[in-house]
Amino acid sequence: MEYHEISFDTVCRNCLSTLEIRSVYSLMCDSENDINRYKEMTEYDLMILIEKWRDRDGHKCEFCNSSNVMVYNLKVDDYEIYNVNRNIQKCEESNFLMLQFRFQKNGNGIELIPSGSPEINGLIFRYCSNEIYKFLLNSSGKYFKYNSLDVGGTHIEMMIKNDVKNSEIETKIEVFRSTGMSKEQVLVNLSDYLKQFRVFVPF
Ligand SMILES: [Zn+2]
Repeated sequence: MEYHEISFDTVCRNCLSTLEIRSVYSLMCDSENDINRYKEMTEYDLMILIEKWRDRDGHKCEFCNSSNVMVYNLKVDDYEIYNVNRNIQKCEESNFLMLQFRFQKNGNGIELIPSGSPEINGLIFRYCSNEIYKFLLNSSGKYFKYNSLDVGGTHIEMMIKNDVKNSEIETKIEVFRSTGMSKEQVLVNLSDYLKQFRVFVPF
């Protein structure tokens, strides 16, 4: 048996409180394969899993007692599950592309900051941004807890495997962190932005 741990930061989606200390799940694994399973997960998938474990174990926000607490900055032992520089490097070395949208509160409104691989062409952009829109549309309401404070934001990042030879595109949500914004705010903002590229998103 080998001892491993998954550690992470938390922020309450209900009251936006954070804990100063990192939380930890200890794991006993039979083999290196067991722990590698976690290391290979995206932050989004591991976030869902750890939040499920916390629900099962009855963990709640220490300040407002809500069970709706986001986990992020996940590490398996010393390995960072999400590392933007590692993803950029992966894109430079292979046929992966990145697309990300950051929604930031800005006074009364929301500012959308898009970024991604320079190789993304119009066709791929339209397809993938539409996939992101659909993903947000279909995401659970628990991720979208509006508050009127100037705190919080939404960050979504997609990794795209562009198989030019077989003209196939595979997409995977890498990161989805969201606090303090309603689903409507995020969707309206994204669809307004996408209209200029003639991406007609579903309603
Ligand atoms: Zn709370």
